[in-house]
Amino acid sequence: MLRRRGFFSWTRNALAAAGVTAAAPGRAVAQTAAAGTDYYDKLGVAKIINAAGTYTALTASIMPPEVQAAVAGAARHPVRLAELQRRAGEYIAGRLKCEAALVTSGASAALTLGTAGCMTLGNRAATKLLPLEVSGLKHEVIVQKGHRFGYDQAVRNCGTRFVEVETLAQYETAFTDRTVMCFFYNAAEAGTISRQEWVAVARAKGVPCFIDAAADVPPISNLWNYTQMGFDLVAFSGGKGLRGPQNAGLLLGRKDLIDAATWNNSPNSDTVGRGLKVAKEQIVGMVAAVDWILAQSDDDILAQCRQRAERIAAHLSGVPTLSHEIFVPPVANAVPHLLLRYDWAKVGKAPLEVARILREGSPSIELNPSTGRTGASAGLPDAQNAIVVGVWMLQPGEDLIVAQRLKAVLV
Ligand SMILES: *Cc1c(COP(=O)(O)O)cnc(C)c1O
Repeated sequence: MLRRRGFFSWTRNALAAAGVTAAAPGRAVAQTAAAGTDYYDKLGVAKIINAAGTYTALTASIMPPEVQAAVAGAARHPVRLAELQRRAGEYIAGRLKCEAALVTSGASAALTLGTAGCMTLGNRAATKLLPLEVSGLKHEVIVQKGHRFGYDQAVRNCGTRFVEVETLAQYETAFTDRTVMCFFYNAAEAGTISRQEWVAVARAKGVPCFIDAAADVPPISNLWNYTQMGFDLVAFSGGKGLRGPQNAGLLLGRKDLIDAATWNNSPNSDTVGRGLKVAKEQIVGMVAAVDWILAQSDDDILAQCRQRAERIAAHLSGVPTLSHEIFVPPVANAVPHLLLRYDWAKVGKAPLEVARILREGSPSIELNPSTGRTGASAGLPDAQNAIVVGVWMLQPGEDLIVAQRLKAVLV
């Protein structure tokens, strides 16, 4: 049974439990109090502590106050959507050093719209043919076999067919008169063809080249690294490291392709992207998130995560057999994660059991889903014997709560 408590008292109690004084309850409390009714409480929805990371199922990131304010401000006035889309795109392109930009409803939507743009380039009438009547259009997408992944469904939503290659020689000979795009998954853990080679061959063949870098900020410079490397299109999630609205993302790149992507987007009714609507609040929120991230520094983001990880580890130093490692995944979610390894036989609880106890406790804490799992995934090492704490999305003071709850369970 969920106990209903106001967010204010929840936060105060949780912080008090962690030894944080009431003098600094954090901005979130004041903002929620000012916003009136707490609909999570009204609906009986549990507020969680996100010690996992930017997982959509856990609502990923919390927008910084500046972004929350921009979203709220945008909600107060109607505007002309096309004008807002255009101006926001021009502004973001200027700030992110690319030719053009489109705010999409997420990285997944950016994949669909970018693909649709490649398929309908120079032929706006073709937008009506996606996804089922594409046999007369270019619709083959070349991809490395090791770059197939769950989100490539967003490319297939346009009716494309993947042509898989494994070697550079296969890649060079895979082009036909139906080839519409070359697709690269930036955080892929397999595949032998490099980004530079992927771009060079696509360029030589005159075929657009698209990279999914959804979760790959920080480093902040990735927001222009891939367009500058020569990728024609780049997709980013708005609601992960960028800390924008969860239902926003960015499609960056060549102006002609982004214009064509826009033909396939909401509000155009008879298109594959009509359901990928981005409201004015999220468009403005995404612009504010771009401003916010460009005002941050990689060093600060990484240092803050490392400090949280170290604080939690220090709190657990007395737990028998426990050792810790601070691990930074190489491409996606490239921020310090805390890995806690220990001998379950001596401690008495397996990592998955610890995760369950924290989830069922109050406040409910979600550890990183690689906790207790065999096999490396999402850039993290095998954690069958480890608890993985994703410290990135913790709010101020929550690292102490997580540390205390872990200690209570492990000792
Ligand atoms: C998260 C993610 C997506 C989807 O991003 P949304 O913004 O939630 O649509 C796509 N590709 C990769 C690699 C991701 O990590």
